[in-house]
Amino acid sequence: MRIDIITVLPELIQGFMQESIVGRAQKKGLVEIYIHNLRDYTLDKWRRVDDYPFGGFAGMVMQCEPIDRCISTLKAERHYDQIIFTTPDGEQFNQPMANSLSLCENIIILCGHYKGIDYRVREHLITKEVSIGDYVLTGGELAAAVMADAIVRILPGAIGDEQSALSDSFQDKLLAAPVYTRPAEYKGWKVPEVLLSGNERLIKEWELQQSLERTQRLRPDLLSDDATIDSKKEYKRK
Ligand code: SAM
Repeated sequence: MRIDIITVLPELIQGFMQESIVGRAQKKGLVEIYIHNLRDYTLDKWRRVDDYPFGGFAGMVMQCEPIDRCISTLKAERHYDQIIFTTPDGEQFNQPMANSLSLCENIIILCGHYKGIDYRVREHLITKEVSIGDYVLTGGELAAAVMADAIVRILPGAIGDEQSALSDSFQDKLLAAPVYTRPAEYKGWKVPEVLLSGNERLIKEWELQQSLERTQRLRPDLLSDDATIDSKKEYKRK
């Protein structure tokens, strides 16, 4: 997989992309991540990529031209499955979207800044608009980092134990069961007996029951459709 990120602040995400699972996945050759400085694509002698908005509104707006030039340069080299713009009014990013984007071969993530980008870019170049939550960030870099992390960690081979990613919260629309490690007792706080039993069937049953109970209590909205009920049955069969 290849992820191209377009930004006016490349240094903000460069460090993040070299660390942890995202960094390791690149070293293992599972993903290539390229960060492009939008200022490299402007013809402006001061390397400006923004201008005042028409209509006299407040704030600055990122111009069409450098974005178009950057995206066109990338598209001339390969086909992109999605050209994503990070924006608070986009579709909410979630685990199913991360799962689906992880199946793409090439994606572009465009990070906005200032008041936003010239709307014509959204109309003519962008194929998907994604928000990471109902709040406004200063720029799209953190959103791009959040998305890249969630996508890359589920690529086969990215984390040591693939089962671990599959049993995380929101896969199967359930929250994950609690986890414990040694010692089995700390300050009188005990690990649930069943986890020490070595009985795989009982442990799986406990895990499912904990997942369902926590989902019911903390996120009942996740349990509200038929797909969830089917996925629970499927989960039970495993
Ligand atoms: N004027 C815009 C609005 O009201 O929707 C907000 C612009 S914001 C200050 C600058 C940039 O940060 C956006 O263009 C977008 O790329 C990014 N951004 C801010 N909040 C975001 C969010 N919740 N999810 C994804 N990107 C976000």
